[in-house]
Amino acid sequence: MYKNILVINMLHIGDLLLATPVLTTLRANYPQAHIALLADAKIDGLVKYNKNIDELISVDKKGYHNKLSNYLKLILAIRRRKFDLVINLHANERASALAAFSAGKRIIGYSSPGFGIFFDDLLNNKNFDHKLKNDPEIPHQAKEHLELLETVLGIPPVDHGLEMWQDQATEEKAAARWFSAFGQQPFKVVGFNTGASWPTKRWTPAGFAAVGDKLLEEGYGLAFFGGTMDIDNVNQILGLMKHGQHSRIAVFTGKLDLLELGALIKKCAVFLTNDSGPMHVAVAQKAAVVAIFGSSNEVGFGPYAKAAVVLTAPGVACRPCGQHNCDHHSCMKNIKPETVSDAVITAAGASVLEPRPAVFFDRDGVLNVDREYVYREQDFEWNSGAIETVKYFNDKGYYTFVVTNQSGVARGFYQESDIKALHQWINEELARHGAHIDAFYYCPHHPEAGNATYRKACACRKPQPGLIFQAMQEWPVEIANSLLIGDNKRDVAAAEAAGVKGFLFDGDNIYEATQKYIRIMGE
Ligand SMILES: [Zn+2]
Repeated sequence: MYKNILVINMLHIGDLLLATPVLTTLRANYPQAHIALLADAKIDGLVKYNKNIDELISVDKKGYHNKLSNYLKLILAIRRRKFDLVINLHANERASALAAFSAGKRIIGYSSPGFGIFFDDLLNNKNFDHKLKNDPEIPHQAKEHLELLETVLGIPPVDHGLEMWQDQATEEKAAARWFSAFGQQPFKVVGFNTGASWPTKRWTPAGFAAVGDKLLEEGYGLAFFGGTMDIDNVNQILGLMKHGQHSRIAVFTGKLDLLELGALIKKCAVFLTNDSGPMHVAVAQKAAVVAIFGSSNEVGFGPYAKAAVVLTAPGVACRPCGQHNCDHHSCMKNIKPETVSDAVITAAGASVLEPRPAVFFDRDGVLNVDREYVYREQDFEWNSGAIETVKYFNDKGYYTFVVTNQSGVARGFYQESDIKALHQWINEELARHGAHIDAFYYCPHHPEAGNATYRKACACRKPQPGLIFQAMQEWPVEIANSLLIGDNKRDVAAAEAAGVKGFLFDGDNIYEATQKYIRIMGE
């Protein structure tokens, strides 16, 4: 019986998660043992709350521990721990050296050449040798780890699949972020993970754009994930989309740590992904996964979940090639958007947006005190009863929209990005009261004022009904029971042009006024 076990895996997101069944197996077979895991500090959120380990040793690979003297100190500290079993789960030099000089009573696992003589049992990772080939004879990497452990330690695999846990604070933070993006979310959300480490692992931006448009038209919401390195890629996709500005899109790209990524993926109906670290995070969250594979090998390193769907291009003989660059990229270009959207919709089930009545709020003067050209949080003061009014309509099952003229953009007082940031902030404020605006629509134009980009006689500036029509295009609104609340005649005119009942608010308390409007609507 081993009492003091060290597992070493200092690699990337996927490799670390593929090692989590090893931890489960060790815990089940050695329930009394102290199990320590040594992992890369940069991604240790993946295992921070792993229930099968007693201790996480974080190694700052690129920083502090990159200095040889500090790495030697780490080795010395490990030696003093007198582990009776050391398991190295990747054959790179740094990990192999650490295992070799760990002074563990028994050292097993994979090793790079030169360190193997210090191992008691050297294991042969066939996936590592064959990682460029789909070889059905070789089990998935996660399974291979378990089979090798069974061979050498005689312990039966306990395989719950990949595992990852979050703490309560992360769950709460993620829930608040999700609510402020999607509110009560009367639709299903598909997660998009469009990046990947190598260019050849990335499906085409045009492909993702086409699938995104189709899903929005079918009533789904979209949540974009990925790290800061994926921001350009996501912006490119949004730019290619017909509905790139759609109110059911949330972009979390570059904003999340791995723990929060995991918590948010759980809220998606399906996670659509390239072969990348977040794909394995989704598997560990037991999410439904649709994965697109090009140059890499899905047999050994695909999603480790029976229900996962893997899409590859038919009849491309050169894949998986393992190349990071390619001049034809046919393994990705030959995957059709229809194939991908069909797979996603099948996995998610239909997202049926119910027809509901809607309330359209003018913003300045209705929801907040009109101070002329409000675009900063500090100038935004809620009108009396405004938050209660939004919550009232949420609870009654109305779609809640803001339709606002913002000619301050045309006049050069502020940017569209300022408006979007303010609207996001408004929803964060509302979220704290359990209230939510489903979508904000604004007109940045003016017929005479300002710069050429925004100077035009548009169809969206109230009294034109364009903003209301835009909302009706994105959401199934029951027009007959819908209403608009404005503080200006042109608001009411816009409502009437769209066939919606308009009310002119001129009181002190918007909630009290609303009760009156609802009575009139009922008559
Ligand atoms: Zn406009």
